[in-house]
Amino acid sequence: MQNPKLRTLTRRGFVGAAAAGLVALSTGRPRGSSQAAPADVAAPIRGVVMVPETLTLENWPGRAKQAGLNTFVLHHPESPEALLQYVRSDPGKVLLAQCTAARINVEFDFHAMRDLVPRELFDKDPSLFRMDDQGRRTPVRNFCVHSAAALQTASENAVKYARAFPTTTGCFYYWSDACAAWCRCPKCRDLSDSDQLLVVENALVAALRKAQPEAKVAHLACHASMPAPQQIKPAPGVFLQYAPVRRRYDIPYSEQTGRDEVDSLWFLEQNLKVFPAKTAQVLEYWIDVTRFPPGTGPLPWNRDRFLADLKTYTSLGIRHFKSFANGVDAGYVKRHGEPTFVPEFGRALEKLFQ
Ligand SMILES: [Zn+2]
Repeated sequence: MQNPKLRTLTRRGFVGAAAAGLVALSTGRPRGSSQAAPADVAAPIRGVVMVPETLTLENWPGRAKQAGLNTFVLHHPESPEALLQYVRSDPGKVLLAQCTAARINVEFDFHAMRDLVPRELFDKDPSLFRMDDQGRRTPVRNFCVHSAAALQTASENAVKYARAFPTTTGCFYYWSDACAAWCRCPKCRDLSDSDQLLVVENALVAALRKAQPEAKVAHLACHASMPAPQQIKPAPGVFLQYAPVRRRYDIPYSEQTGRDEVDSLWFLEQNLKVFPAKTAQVLEYWIDVTRFPPGTGPLPWNRDRFLADLKTYTSLGIRHFKSFANGVDAGYVKRHGEPTFVPEFGRALEKLFQ
């Protein structure tokens, strides 16, 4: 769901980001714990989501705070393990210290299943893994949700990552690999991809709540999991995160309502019959430069259309909003000047529930 250029987050990438500015921004080594100070977690979320490679603008968390935002999310398109490497690197520590200084919440999200059920287990036990449409078990993406061993392994690793990432909100985002298809084995095939994902999320939240009773796990509605679950109900603590990446941005979302239109508002309405609106998050792409060709800006920002979208979402009871903000980096400022849409985005969200 990201620009292919951002899909590989390597150690070289971290070093590159550091060289491009992050480390130079440090006002000294972070003191004590890298965990950010908890801000008001009960407040409606106003957040940005970014991959580390695009964090080349000076003090993004400080800018986010200045813009009226209260949550900064680090994202990896493929792997919690890779994001953890960044968090533990010097640039990662600097970034978390900046979040602490800005008193802004920190979260982490990633397409996680390949690390929750490590792919190297395939040789030992293919039954952990998903069956494709041709009836073959494959380690490519996700796993078999009727494998008790796979669910157990996923749960144990989710707990491990929950301990390792210094999130300040108690919300955890373990997304399916590439938002792609799940298992087609005889036991799984009658469950939709959304239902299979929810089976996993229900298992993860149960495991996380043994140590952290208030833990929450996102159900990401996106691509294959965009249709609402039909057979499985969310366990307490599983909330909707709705990411209509394939919607149109040239017209207001209120004009995209057909059930046959990709990622239309109809899908949100169906999901809100399963998940409560008051805990649901919208994960949008309003200020993600990489979402819009050529991927380097200028962002086709239309404030009125954005405000109309906010009205549409809030009329359905949505209170929590995030946008990807990839590509809003030092290069963008050089090419197009200061991104005024960031404070316009943040301030509008701030005004929503005042
Ligand atoms: Zn299966």
